[in-house]
Formats: sequence, C-alpha cells, structure tokens
Amino acid sequence: MSDLTFEIESNPAPRSTEDRAALMANPGFGKVFTDHMAIARYSAERGWHDARITARAPIPLDPAAAVLHYAQEIFEGLKAYRTADGGAALFRPEANAKRFRSSAERMAMVPFPEKAFIDAQRKLVEIDRAWIPDTPDGSLYLRPFMIANEVFLGVKPATEYLFITIASAVGSYFKDPNGTVTVWLSEHYTRAAPGGTGAAKCGGNYASSLAAQAEAASKGCEQVVFLDAAERRYVEELGGMNVFFVFEDGTLLTPPLSDSILPGITRDSIITLAREAGMTVREELYAIDQWREDVRSGRQTEAFACGTAAVITPIGKVRGREDDFAIGDSVAGPVARKLRSMLVDIQRGNTNDSHGWFQKVF
Ligand SMILES: *Cc1c(COP(=O)(O)O)cnc(C)c1O
Repeated sequence: MSDLTFEIESNPAPRSTEDRAALMANPGFGKVFTDHMAIARYSAERGWHDARITARAPIPLDPAAAVLHYAQEIFEGLKAYRTADGGAALFRPEANAKRFRSSAERMAMVPFPEKAFIDAQRKLVEIDRAWIPDTPDGSLYLRPFMIANEVFLGVKPATEYLFITIASAVGSYFKDPNGTVTVWLSEHYTRAAPGGTGAAKCGGNYASSLAAQAEAASKGCEQVVFLDAAERRYVEELGGMNVFFVFEDGTLLTPPLSDSILPGITRDSIITLAREAGMTVREELYAIDQWREDVRSGRQTEAFACGTAAVITPIGKVRGREDDFAIGDSVAGPVARKLRSMLVDIQRGNTNDSHGWFQKVF
C-alpha cells in the first residue's frame, strides 16, 4: 500500500500551556513527551492500514505478543529543528526511512512504506509544533519504531506489526555539550558479529550492550568503545555513535561500514561535508594498538563520536583494563568543532544546503 497516509485525530485534552512550559524549561533527553503519536497496523490480510496521528497513550499488548518473547523490534531516531523564522525542519528523513526498511528486512519484519514514514514524521511535527524547543541545543526528537504484535509463541517472522512514532522535546544529550567523554574499551563484551544484526537499528543490539555500558560506568566512563568480534582488534563504534579520528596532517579516518557497524546518517553527512571542505577522509580498519600508538606519538590530534542524539562528541580519554590514554588536551578540538558547526548550521537552516538534506516542515 504505497498510498498509506496518516489521518489526523487531535488530542482532545492536550497539556495546558503552563504545564508544557514547565516541562520544557529543562527537558533533559527522552523524558518529556508530546501530546500525539503516529500509529499504523499491519496484518497479512489487510497490509498496512489504520494510519493515524492520535493522542499519545499506552498501547495494549497481549502477553503473548511476539516482540515480548523474540524481540522482533526496530527503531529510528531523527530530530525536528526550530528554524530562525519560527518554522521547523527535518534533516535527511528519507535516509531514516530507507534505513528503517533495511533494518526491517534484516529482522524479517514487513517493511514500512518510506513515503508513509516521512508523512508520519511531518504530520507529527506539525501537530506538536508547540513542543519544539527554541533553545540553541534543543530539538524535537522523533522516535519511530516497529514491533511484532502477533499473538503466537512460535519462532517465525510475525504476521502482525505495529508502527509507531513518538516525539520528545529534548535539550543536549550529554550534560555538558562542550565537554569531552571518557570511553571504556570493551575487551570482553562485543556489540555485533559478522553475519549478525549490528548494521540493523534494533533494540536487541542495545540490550546486549548494557552489560558493557554498566562495566564502563563502574570504571568512571560515560560510553563504551567496541572492538570487532572476530579478532578483538579493530575499533568499530561506540554502541550508539560512530567514531572518527583526526590526524596531525588534517586527514580523517573512520572504520568502513560492514554488517557489524550501524550506517550512521551523521557519519555519512560528516564524510560528505569534510570532503567538500577539502579534507581527506579514509574509511579504513583501525586497530586498537595503532590507536594507542598514534595518540602516544602525537600523530592523532582528535577523536570524536557522532550520532543524531549527541551530534559530535569529542573523546577525551580512552580507558582499558591495562592503561589509559588521553587524546589531545581533553578539550573539543578544532576539527570536531568545525564539523559540528557545519552540520548544525545546515540542520537549523542557518546556511545554504546544496544537498537537499534540510527539509522544511512548515
Ligand atoms: C543510531 C546509531 C548510530 C548513529 O546513527 P545516526 O543516523 O547518525 O543517528 C550509530 N550507532 C548505532 C549503534 C546506532 O544505533
């Protein structure tokens, strides 16, 4: 059904202006939700149907719903930004729609039509426009997801699905958006294996990363850096963010995409912007021993993580079982800062966008 469109049913009892203002004064990340959600259903008989923008509410689930047992679940994350003229814009939503389709295919789920995916995001942003923060670091974080809700305890791809998008008013992801993070080098746990689901945006990848995240927290680290599962040698990503390294000759390096690395839209945008700015970007395997050596010798001047939620986050220190190493002088470096402002300027419509990435909603 390529012509699936979302019907609008306004929330009859939205939050009052005062309640909303109080919630949005200091929203944090992922705690303050809007008045509406987008929802659509799939069944084998009817295909995708019943697409609505409606009041945000709990969803009844049968205790035998497949997602609760075998974790057929995928999600996306994108932001709507407030623009200077009081409007709002999305950044590359068709890339999220496309990745949502690939994730569905990997998890043997029925893909959601890409046009309808974008229709849901636009209509939700429009109806919940009062929830888009106008602070410099604020945005409306959109969380599309899909679950298998067939009532059946058999191991097979489900025949019924629910697509939902919820929206959350957010500030910056890390408490100090100008600070650096210390990352824990996970030498025991891995995130994704060859042939596995690492390139699909599924909740299961996050569930399996939480023990490593807890280990990191116990070592005083904010994030985990994962190595490849086959050799425990090559740096892959941070489990929720892709990673870049900057060298003294001005070149950038990021690990090449594979079936164990999530193809980040921020990663792709940074590669494009950096190359257009005349920088050399290599997509190459990068061994952990090489990382240590490049930092010790001073050949590497910066490292940073990137993703929609936190944009660009400089890595100040790497902590492993045996040693610690600090990159640069543990403050955001000039390359990370420059790329961040190039990206943010496009996302917020402060500069011309020659790529068609900036898409006005209203
Ligand atoms: C979402 C995600 C990223 C970042 O992707 P963006 O499209 O840049 O937000 C990186 N790694 C993992 C594991 C992710 O789930």
